[in-house]
Amino acid sequence: MLIIHFDFVVAELIFLGGVGELGANSVYLYIDGTGIIIDAGLHPRKRDKDALPAYESIIGNPVDLLILTHAHTDHIGGIPYLLKFFPHTKIIMTKATRDLAEIMLKDTAKLLQTELVAEYSIDNLSLYKPEVLENIWMLMDGYNYYEGIKFCGYAGRSEIKITLYPSGHILGSASVKIDFGGESLLHSGDIQFINQAVIAGADLPKHHIEYLLIESTNAGEPNLPDYNDEIKRFSKYVNQIVDKNGSILIPAFALGKTQEVLKIIYSLMQNNSIPNLTIYTGGLGKIISGFYDKYCYSVPMVKPGFEISDIPQEYIIWDELLTGKYFKEPSIVVASSGMMNKGTASYQLAQRWMKLKNSGIAFIGYLDESSPGYELLHSDMNKDFKFAGKKERRMCEVKNFRFTSHAYLNDILNYISDIKPSKIYINHGDLLSSENLSMRISQNLNNTQIYLPEKKKTYKLL
Ligand SMILES: [Zn+2]
Repeated sequence: MLIIHFDFVVAELIFLGGVGELGANSVYLYIDGTGIIIDAGLHPRKRDKDALPAYESIIGNPVDLLILTHAHTDHIGGIPYLLKFFPHTKIIMTKATRDLAEIMLKDTAKLLQTELVAEYSIDNLSLYKPEVLENIWMLMDGYNYYEGIKFCGYAGRSEIKITLYPSGHILGSASVKIDFGGESLLHSGDIQFINQAVIAGADLPKHHIEYLLIESTNAGEPNLPDYNDEIKRFSKYVNQIVDKNGSILIPAFALGKTQEVLKIIYSLMQNNSIPNLTIYTGGLGKIISGFYDKYCYSVPMVKPGFEISDIPQEYIIWDELLTGKYFKEPSIVVASSGMMNKGTASYQLAQRWMKLKNSGIAFIGYLDESSPGYELLHSDMNKDFKFAGKKERRMCEVKNFRFTSHAYLNDILNYISDIKPSKIYINHGDLLSSENLSMRISQNLNNTQIYLPEKKKTYKLL
């Protein structure tokens, strides 16, 4: 769809993915001649073109700048695809996201070239070759939080100011504020207002914001359990398994969840809530923990200076995965992937783990309904079930804990009441969450227009 820019059109939004779902997050913003895209995600379940943002719908419009909110794949996995359409786009983000994006994108590329190779077209796969990715790093610039970044696109008619605020989701995550023509727009990105175990809660602008783009991941669950209550429940579970002389397997996303759960476990050991067990980690999670340590003073942390490497850890040896010491003595194993995707360490470990009556598995993150992790969590003890297409039987305990890195509904509502936006665009949530958030906001604010945006539709701001 080509937008015809009359003189009176100053600012517009087009959502290119990530509305009514969690997926290929990306939104286009046209401000007085300058074209900006915020995030370029890859959908975790869809494949090929369906997994990528609808960039073909904005061909003909200026695209000068890509701003990344954080380094999760559903926000950065589509960068090579974006550059196919708009090769001269400059890319900005926080310094930590700059570091993380490089390893996360390489990991995504590896996955596409191996496990998913049959499900993508040759054209799209060619965008993820190492030599192509090398050029992307050169386009990326990292900035500090709160640093005002002035920008004007090639055909821009006025200067805009971009500021990145800590969004409390993972290392380097940011909410993006854009000031233009005397007004402000805030894109929340993935956001968490409360302190997690490692990353401090979001610190956002408190003044009036005209336009707010807000995520709604948890907005459909008004009774989501309290973070600290979940820690207590987790502690009880660990003790229960250890009392039976068993070990606990924690499938965790390498970026974010791994570091948070390591800190939770360590704190529980420090205050004697659980015994001092050997903790096993490894793979991508270990590399990413190194970046958490690198930024432990410069990024808002609950305990500045605390390093994940201060937590005693043994490393998982891939060749000895199914014969490790954790099968012989009570231990905790934190292994990716969080959803137990086929071929990953947590998937391999689960096959032996689930046969052990005295052991337990603790899920701590989002599980897609089609994932092996979801199948295992919803299986019945001592009954056959399908695990990634294979017949299995589970004898071990399985529980799910909600250490969420996304905002609770009430925290979102409180923030919105503070900044009183004129227009709110709800994204990054399923339909139920988006509708529930919309309903709750409209109960509080009468003069705010609320949108559940449609993909590829143009929304005029000014
Ligand atoms: Zn995220």
